[in-house]
Parts: sequence; C-alpha cells; structure tokens
Amino acid sequence: MAVLEIVMDPAPVLRQGTQPVTEFDDALQQLIDDMLETMYAVNGVGLAAPQIGNTLRLAVMDVSMERNEPVVLVNPEVVESRGRQLMAAGCLSVPGAYDKVERAEWVKVKAQDRHGNWFEIEGEGLRSECLQHEIDHLDGTLFLDHLSPLKQRRLREKMKKTLKARKRRKS
Ligand SMILES: [Zn+2]
Repeated sequence: MAVLEIVMDPAPVLRQGTQPVTEFDDALQQLIDDMLETMYAVNGVGLAAPQIGNTLRLAVMDVSMERNEPVVLVNPEVVESRGRQLMAAGCLSVPGAYDKVERAEWVKVKAQDRHGNWFEIEGEGLRSECLQHEIDHLDGTLFLDHLSPLKQRRLREKMKKTLKARKRRKS
C-alpha cells in the first residue's frame, strides 16, 4: 500500500468528471487500498479518485469516530434524497478553507463494492454530507461551487495562505 499525493484546486483533473469502473481487477484493488491508506494518513472522512489524479468513478469514506468503518463506493449515484441542511464542509483539495454548504438532509446512494456487488447506503448528517461531497467530486464539482463568488474568493485566499504555511514548515 502507498500514501498517494493529493491534488489541489485548481488542478484540471478535479474538474473533468469520471468514467465508470468496469474492471474489478487487481489494479483496482490496489488503487482502493492506496486510497484508503491515503485517506487515513491525512485524517480525512472521504477521498475521491480525482483527488489523487485518477478519473475512475470511485471514492472511499469513513465517517466513524473510531476510524474503523471504511466504505468503498464504486460507480455511486444518489437515487433518493430528502430535506435540506446546512453542514460544515471542507476538502482535502482545498486545504484550510471551511464553510457551511446547503445539501440534502438525507440521501440514499446506490453503488458497487470493490468486487462489483451492488449495494445501497443511506444516511443523514455527516454521512449524508460526505456521500454528496464525494459524488460531487466524481462529477467534477467542488464544495466551493455551492458558495457565492465572494465566499469562493475568500476561501481560495485562505487556501493559498495554508499552502504557504505548509511549505514554510517543510523547508
Ligand atoms: Zn473534497
């Protein structure tokens, strides 16, 4: 397994959308394991393939407190949603930038597991926000897109400062 480098906004790969996974082969298993390892290494609740520079329709998430409930979402789609909620949002590809985003309160998602078996997952609160956030990524959408142009500008400034501070720490 390997920790992969996370792609930052405004990388084009975050915007180009994804293609369905059709081969559930060893390469896919390796990719899924690497994405899980990467997500846990950076303490994220979710990670979508475009965030590591890959354009397959694939994401992983874990919204549990104990960090021991990994969910693999291959070819996920929202099939039902209800209500609206304002939820705090952030993104590994937009580090240091946080705001509230309005999303469906409850969603049901249909997806395949790592071996190609279809299943359904539903949830509200953080689980709902995370499912919608990751599926957005697979469609080339960032949480910033749900905010006003003014807020987007402010958050991108925050992100630049965060990245600069990171660089300083490393050098
Ligand atoms: Zn994200």
